[in-house]
Amino acid sequence: MSKKISQRKGSSTRKKAYKAPDFLVDLLNARSPTGHEYEAQAVVDKEVMPVVDEYRKDTMGNRFATVNPKGDPSVLFTGHIDELGLIVTYINDKGFVYFDTLGGHDKSMISGRRVSILTRDGIVKGITGKRAIHLMSAEDRKKVPQTHEIWIDLGVASKAEAEALVRIGDCAVYDQSFELIRGSVGVARAFDDKAGAYAVLEAVRRLAKYKLSARVTAAATTQEEIGTRGAITAAFSENPDFAVAVDVGHATDSPDCDPRKYGSFNQGGGPIICRGPNINPVIFEHIVAVAEKSKIAYQIEADPRPTGTDARAIQVAQAGIATGLLSIPLRYMHTPSEMVDLEDIESTVQLLVAVARSLKKGDRGVW
Ligand SMILES: [Zn+2]
Repeated sequence: MSKKISQRKGSSTRKKAYKAPDFLVDLLNARSPTGHEYEAQAVVDKEVMPVVDEYRKDTMGNRFATVNPKGDPSVLFTGHIDELGLIVTYINDKGFVYFDTLGGHDKSMISGRRVSILTRDGIVKGITGKRAIHLMSAEDRKKVPQTHEIWIDLGVASKAEAEALVRIGDCAVYDQSFELIRGSVGVARAFDDKAGAYAVLEAVRRLAKYKLSARVTAAATTQEEIGTRGAITAAFSENPDFAVAVDVGHATDSPDCDPRKYGSFNQGGGPIICRGPNINPVIFEHIVAVAEKSKIAYQIEADPRPTGTDARAIQVAQAGIATGLLSIPLRYMHTPSEMVDLEDIESTVQLLVAVARSLKKGDRGVW
């Protein structure tokens, strides 16, 4: 474990440039605000459908990619493809566009962004504006602006001009695409949870080459950010024996994250394996044993409540599903510049592959 970590630390100073996987980069750059996951779905359809045994879509927009469909036990890996966004609610007389938020935004970070609005005629560019500090009272400068005090400026002069470009209900995301900034460390606006979606889908792409006992399905789920809604129907329709949700988790190794409150998790330290009431003890112990055997560095987190991930919905679907959770360490969650060490994503893929290969006919999570 420590050896693996020290290799990782060295990766930042390696001379050879780190190459991010194209599939991951395409997912990160796909604009997929909650409920409007079209661009991410298209990437998944293109990259995953051709290499698996079965592929299916549902009315929530979820994608399901299965290898070894007749296998036993059945396993579901999930990662959500939706991301935070803005949804247009009102256009005023001058053509300024007002919005509500999709998902849990840090409101101090919404203004001053370039945004791409997804419209029926393609992408429309704008910026999020608010009153300049020079025009604020000393008192107002201390406050975080409310959503209705920020608007999208399309650079137009009238309501008619704005309405020709944008409709009520169109959605936007920030123009903050993926970039590697040092070694294997990257920044993007939506590692949450394109990192996890990539991990589960890439795992299944690799598993297609092995002889397995288990049936393995990777689901790219939708609408996680507003209440794990894609996972609710995905878990119901798949009804697997085991499930592992993969999401991002807080790396608490940046300043001001008190480990006494939030635990100690490192970027570059490997996937975080969750333990607590939301996690089936059989699958937890199994994942840890596989990580040990495969010499994959990992971290353990305790969560005393239903987690804020797809695992919350999956565990209590149908008659109960033996559910585990892996989290990829991430700094600055739900901000326009989330940071992840891509080596942690790769270790997560390897762990999922190893877990799927280790499951034997008849394995169940009953305890
Ligand atoms: Zn999130």
